[in-house]
Amino acid sequence: MIAKLVIVGSGPAAWSAAIYAARAALSPIVLAGEQGGGQLMLTTKIENYPGFPDGILGPDLMAGMRQQAEKHGVQIVDKDAVKLEVQSSKFKVQSYDTEIVANAVIIATGATANTLKLPGEDRLMGRGVGTCAVCDAPFYKGKNLVLVIGGGDSAMEEAGELAKFVNKVVILVRKDTTRASAIMINRIKRLQNVEIWYKTEAKEFLGDKRLEKARIAKDGKEEILTVDGVFYAIGHTPATEWLKGSGVNLDAQGYILIHLSTATSLPGVFAAGDCVDRRYRQAITAAGFGAMAALDAQKWLETT
Ligand code: NDP
Repeated sequence: MIAKLVIVGSGPAAWSAAIYAARAALSPIVLAGEQGGGQLMLTTKIENYPGFPDGILGPDLMAGMRQQAEKHGVQIVDKDAVKLEVQSSKFKVQSYDTEIVANAVIIATGATANTLKLPGEDRLMGRGVGTCAVCDAPFYKGKNLVLVIGGGDSAMEEAGELAKFVNKVVILVRKDTTRASAIMINRIKRLQNVEIWYKTEAKEFLGDKRLEKARIAKDGKEEILTVDGVFYAIGHTPATEWLKGSGVNLDAQGYILIHLSTATSLPGVFAAGDCVDRRYRQAITAAGFGAMAALDAQKWLETT
């Protein structure tokens, strides 16, 4: 396949870039990934995306963005990108069985949830250990105790969602402070069935076919808790592994380094959203970032 512009990703940054690029007559192809939709597919209600006074479900927001891109004629390929190569002043973006050669590229591949790789984790992932309580909370209806690991807004949000279904939720925060926003902490403090345990770390997950217990260290003292579930909410890793060796410079954590707004180290390759942004990571900032990348790519295509 040949295109002026290929956009890799399918979160708010990618769809926003696609809509802008399509309206600028760049006829973009979006390589949207097999799972598609990014992290917003794993959330419930989004209350901070302007234009939706009653909130909107994450998957509905993503479906709307995709539909809007399709309406503007964007071609969508639901495959994962595995490699980016420079090929005589053009770019070849490869998936397992397709390749797209383009004059410019926008990378908007987002980020995925971190875990601690604790003993027992591999065996019990999806069997009581998870990374998206917001997705799985209803499965824990009537259960006694679920832990959330992390001390940011995600941990508070996940705990709040679980609290609707579970008798008791405990948030394990490794330090003696959280970095969650005041509004999120206050929301949690109002819930009778949620506790925050500071200076507490998870050490091991126990159970044969399903999670049964968790070994934790509370203020240095180890104990084993009988638990029904444990959810990670300890941040994210950018989905940029596929870019290694491409000439696109990444930082030590794998976030794409940009300069001049959205330009990467490879002229003609732009980047936007959570694969670049470790700080804001919001749907609205990613969408704005995607629009910026499309405008930068447009300018680049017009002047080179
Ligand atoms: P953050 O990076 O904000 O927080 C990550 C948390 O995980 C921190 O408490 C951190 O602890 C902890 N952590 C990291 N590594 C470990 C580890 N190895 N062991 C134990 N704990 C660890 O990520 P979030 O995903 O919470 O939030 C990301 C962004 O999304 C933020 O900007 C947030 O505001 C936003 N957000 C907004 C929401 C909303 O508005 N409704 C909902 C969810 C997220 P430490 O502080 O010690 O480093």
